[in-house]
Amino acid sequence: MFDSRDDIDKLKNENEHLSAYYDMYFALREQQDICKESVQLPSFNDDEIKQKALEGGSVIENSGIDLSGLPEFFMEIFKVYAQFTTHNYDEVLAAVERLKPDLAEILEEFLFLKENVKMQAHISDSLPAEILVFLIKNTLTPLVEKYSECVLPSIDLDSWENGCCPVCGHPPGLAELRKTPSGRQRYMFCSLCHTSWPFQRLKCPFCEKVEEKETEYLSFPDEKNYRVDICNSCNSFIKTVINNSAELPPVLLDWSSQYVDDSAIQKGYKRVASM
Ligand SMILES: [Zn+2]
Ligand SMILES: [Zn+2]
Repeated sequence: MFDSRDDIDKLKNENEHLSAYYDMYFALREQQDICKESVQLPSFNDDEIKQKALEGGSVIENSGIDLSGLPEFFMEIFKVYAQFTTHNYDEVLAAVERLKPDLAEILEEFLFLKENVKMQAHISDSLPAEILVFLIKNTLTPLVEKYSECVLPSIDLDSWENGCCPVCGHPPGLAELRKTPSGRQRYMFCSLCHTSWPFQRLKCPFCEKVEEKETEYLSFPDEKNYRVDICNSCNSFIKTVINNSAELPPVLLDWSSQYVDDSAIQKGYKRVASM
């Protein structure tokens, strides 16, 4: 299991080439855990949550959740990010400063899956979409994780059949084939709140097409821990963990296996969301 500096150091020794990912993850996690403790959630009604989930909707929408402290936390996350990136720091900082007045709206648009109008306006060469999305997601992490932990006991995950997350409605960023007594069960991990839920083996989580036999996948001769499930209807793919013996958290599993995505992208498949 993975929750202390010692665990990180052990992992770094085993996988030296991934050291920077582990360090950044740990530094972000430290900030996120402090923030998570101070998150106050609105009270919610168990039956309402059950009902919303039964109707197939995301339960975080219209939940009255408070986003007011998040623009400030975004800057904390940016500081951590900047420690690990030496590339055009001054230009990125200037772009982040320009974005500040719109930050509250940008975070709200992203969280509630509205059209990202404000966000789009700030995407530039110095602040590309992938970096902005990375910062936004890491800012929202403490709030959405805590929300998920609170509402999850009210949601019947076994009857949730949608490809998107039952808590926040975001798409999955990673899948796992977990060993269970009755065989391997497929799970999805939400790309925003990290909730995991069981999902049909033969269904694409993005276009929901059901295949007649095992979904096509790409495997790699030197890679025992991951495979890539592809969909030839919507041309998307989801990276799938087939062996997580180190019990790494899903975000770190994703970050430390980028080469797996690269090979699927080279074959023309698109990635819908990362962790
Ligand atoms: Zn979610
Ligand atoms: Zn599909």
